Amino acid sequence: MTGDLAGTCAELAQLIPCLGDALERDNHGDGPGRAWHGILVVNTDVLHALLTISREVPPISRHIAGLLGEKPPSDIDAMLRQFPRWNERLASLERNVTITAPWRWLALTKRALGLRKPDTVLPQPCPWADTHPENHPPRETLILAGAEGFLRTDHGQLRVEWVAAGRIYCPAPHCGASWSQAEWPLLERILDMAVA
Ligand SMILES: [Zn+2]
Repeated sequence: MTGDLAGTCAELAQLIPCLGDALERDNHGDGPGRAWHGILVVNTDVLHALLTISREVPPISRHIAGLLGEKPPSDIDAMLRQFPRWNERLASLERNVTITAPWRWLALTKRALGLRKPDTVLPQPCPWADTHPENHPPRETLILAGAEGFLRTDHGQLRVEWVAAGRIYCPAPHCGASWSQAEWPLLERILDMAVA
């Protein structure tokens, strides 16, 4: 998870129309999905992202707005724009609620649009597997996060800028071990010590 909530929501609002376009394009015979033996074939990742967002954003918005005594906006775009402010209000009121779902929606959207390269499974096990308290799977191997694409406007043209995440993390639930690229030498030393 990188970036702040405001940036995440803004990027999501920018990309959601692209999901609609991708579905439309696939269904008009230009994309990989089209009718096959008379059956309409759609890009299921795109459809799944669209359905998840349209199913999850309104109830979460209504719930949060309700907690804050506000009226929720009527469309998804406007709801996304309220999330950062709502999160600040929740924090200032010391309500024990934090809005985290937009990161998951953004990850889903980026994968569906091909803006997220696959992760690489590394051969090394998580160095905290032995020392971390309880339920850490003993041989959980580390993962190198795939590069992420960002849409940028360049002289009125949209282009994709690829940014290497440079993050190695442990996928075990509740472990939370993560190293940025600057911390890789440290991780190498830890792994060498574990082998020695
Ligand atoms: Zn771990």
